[in-house]
Amino acid sequence: MSYIAKSPWVIHYDGSSCNGCDIEVLACLTPMYDVERFGIINTGNPKHADVFLVTGSVNEQNKDVVKQIYEQMPEPKVVVAVGICACSAGIFKQCYNIMGGVDSVIPVDVYVPGCAARPEAIIDGVVKGLAVLQEKRDNMKKLGISEEKTEEGGEN
Ligand code: SF4
Repeated sequence: MSYIAKSPWVIHYDGSSCNGCDIEVLACLTPMYDVERFGIINTGNPKHADVFLVTGSVNEQNKDVVKQIYEQMPEPKVVVAVGICACSAGIFKQCYNIMGGVDSVIPVDVYVPGCAARPEAIIDGVVKGLAVLQEKRDNMKKLGISEEKTEEGGEN
């Protein structure tokens, strides 16, 4: 994780999951896995987040919420789809109300398979996402685009 320039802040949204993957996301925050020791913070404010962790598939009810959270996050940002439902809608794919995985409404950078996704796989997915985040940050720098500031006027 030597490429991390800043503490990455994560926002988690449960699309229409069975809560299995959400429990595993929470497990990452417990003393057992303790992602906070890497500076990874779980925030409730999209304007402070670098990484969007989504569990569950996308349906007509939540598609706008997913889009709104994504749009409120400052650039650069990455999206991690956690669990097979978020990756491709999984076993709910044929349901009448399901549109698909997270990538049916927003771009996804990292796919973490599993049902449920294991905490180790989720942490691995976030670390992969951080490499993508740094790549995006470098590309913005090359193009002379400054990073967006948070609501309070400072970078997170
Ligand atoms: S991938 Fe499995 S555990 Fe995760 S939300 Fe879907 S059904 Fe639940």
